Amino acid sequence: MGAAGYRTRYPPRVRHARPATGGRGSDPVKLRAALLAWYDANRRDFPWRRTRDPYAVLVSEVMLQQTQASRVNVAFPAFMRRFPTAADLAAASSRDVLVAWSGLGYNRRALALQRAAAAVTRSGWPRDVAGLQALPGIGPYTARAVASLAFHHAVGVVDTNVRRWLTRRFGLRPDAAASDLQALADALAGAGTDGRTDAWTHASMEFGANVCRARTPRCAACPVAGGCPSRTDPVAVPVPRQAPFSGSNRAGRGALLRALVAAPGHALALDRVGTLVPAARAARILAELEREGFIRREGDEVRLGGPSRGDATATIDP
Ligand code: SF4
Repeated sequence: MGAAGYRTRYPPRVRHARPATGGRGSDPVKLRAALLAWYDANRRDFPWRRTRDPYAVLVSEVMLQQTQASRVNVAFPAFMRRFPTAADLAAASSRDVLVAWSGLGYNRRALALQRAAAAVTRSGWPRDVAGLQALPGIGPYTARAVASLAFHHAVGVVDTNVRRWLTRRFGLRPDAAASDLQALADALAGAGTDGRTDAWTHASMEFGANVCRARTPRCAACPVAGGCPSRTDPVAVPVPRQAPFSGSNRAGRGALLRALVAAPGHALALDRVGTLVPAARAARILAELEREGFIRREGDEVRLGGPSRGDATATIDP
């Protein structure tokens, strides 16, 4: 493909970002083929990569958004044994879901996932991005991931790892707009006629995680190094900073939920809460967790699991 070909396939802002964008080795079809070949030879074999069941895909995607793959590799099979279908998860108590989620952190994800499972149990699976994004708790990232991995949609999925390799490989500014990165990811996802929408999504994320790494990119092993403007001088791509965990509300919420998961009958005396979380924040943390469906108060006890199915506003996206 000549230069005119690149102009017709890459989104305008990416085409003009840097001269290297349309340079050697940037044919989207060839670039995609090179990454897929690398993936086929180097992929890690995880259980969620052996399925296109939308429920299993959704569970794994939600787990992977804020938890390391090595931990998800243990948690995912156990969760799927406990709740094999969306209907099983929808019918479970929030207490049982939180116990099964224990150790993964970011517990809002568990209740949001249950709400999505309840919706698809009632109404069936939407099969496109818009329909998936309309599910309770599902944001644009998750909708795209499920659409590409389970429903054969050629849509780009941009997580932290994908953002980094796209920025470097295409010579974008480190603060490139999310919409530009999404357009580029969509262009690459749609560049193939191989039908491997799921493999492409996995390959793109795996490549960013294992080759175009944040601190030490493995440029010598990179299958798309030709024409990469970052090859000898990798651009640092900042990631959004999280608020400090220690001493935060999130830390207190996590400590209380862990204690409830471990407690006999998943219940604790209310006056113990002040020993598990900063005493000055105990009332606020209890009120938040109760409102969001994580706990309920009964007499002088606090119990794991609420009467509701979780926070009505939280989304699963990172
Ligand atoms: S050559 Fe290096 S910086 Fe460029 S895409 Fe490959 S691993 Fe990333």
